[in-house]
Amino acid sequence: MQREFEIRSQRKFEVVDITTGVAAIVADSRIDEGICSVYVPHATAAIVINENADPNLCTDLLDALDTLIPDGVWRHDRIDGNGAAHIKAAILGPGETVPVRRGKLVLGTWQSLMLVDLDGPRRRRVVVTIR
Ligand code: ZN
Repeated sequence: MQREFEIRSQRKFEVVDITTGVAAIVADSRIDEGICSVYVPHATAAIVINENADPNLCTDLLDALDTLIPDGVWRHDRIDGNGAAHIKAAILGPGETVPVRRGKLVLGTWQSLMLVDLDGPRRRRVVVTIR
């Protein structure tokens, strides 16, 4: 089973919690045991699993990426000025796979599924596949 939904980011850098939306698709699938793939078909966005209970952690993640990968020093910046966003997205990766057990995502207490927009604001597609 496969579904897609859209996220509209509001800022250049933004972390959006998509756990509830993905969990609803898993519930609709009626698949008891399997795997759930969550994927963004974009070159400057990523999917991560991490804590969202403390929202500072999401800001810390974006700050850490900024420290490691500064803006404006990449060859690709001559094309469309977003070389850093591509590199950050490549490091974080476009997707995650989560086990499904008893019809639910197997996520730890402190784990959330999050879309990371590294070059917003934009419309971002999220593709969820459950098998
Ligand atoms: Zn680009």
